[in-house]
Amino acid sequence: MLQEKLPMTPMRLMTGPLLANSYILCEDDCVLVDPAGDVEDILRVLRGRNLRFVVATHMHFDHIWSAKALVDSTGADFLVHRLDWELRDEFLSMAEELGFRPPAPPDRAEFVEDGQTIWHGLRIMHTPGHTPGSISLVGSGFILTGDLLFNGSVGRTDLLASDSRALASSICRIYREIPHHYVVYPGHGPPTTVGAEATGNPFLRASSCSTSS
Ligand SMILES: [Zn+2]
Ligand SMILES: [Zn+2]
Repeated sequence: MLQEKLPMTPMRLMTGPLLANSYILCEDDCVLVDPAGDVEDILRVLRGRNLRFVVATHMHFDHIWSAKALVDSTGADFLVHRLDWELRDEFLSMAEELGFRPPAPPDRAEFVEDGQTIWHGLRIMHTPGHTPGSISLVGSGFILTGDLLFNGSVGRTDLLASDSRALASSICRIYREIPHHYVVYPGHGPPTTVGAEATGNPFLRASSCSTSS
């Protein structure tokens, strides 16, 4: 389990083409989850601190908008689930349908898996549904859920390679495994808590989760 210590609090930046949330977590060095904004904005917030990892909750273009620029300019490693990395070209071309020029993905990636701890107790949960390789990141007192679970909503499942049953199963797993006082930092919109969504999310409450899902 996570070691007890002063919890790091993810810093939320709301920038980029579809106002996806980027989160910066810092201890002695920093991790950036979902580089949605312009690289200059992100570097300004980092203020010279060492960026160790850039993590993508999934490979949709608005969540990796400046991933390549950030990795190229800082030397950070890019972490993503293999299932989303393999679909990167298809996912990034979806930007064109929305009138954006697709960003280039980073040149290379390191793959993360369910249960892996990547940095200072920050643990990967493989939470497929919105995309096959969607991940959540669990820290001490919080979970970053990407486009799986939002404040009062859930991720879209009408997109390429998305799966509504997998999405429900992933959300139910969060309700079951993550303490309900944990803060949820979603990929879009304001934070919430696991408990608030488990009892009040209009799309999926914990009471609708079967014991097997
Ligand atoms: Zn998405
Ligand atoms: Zn999104």
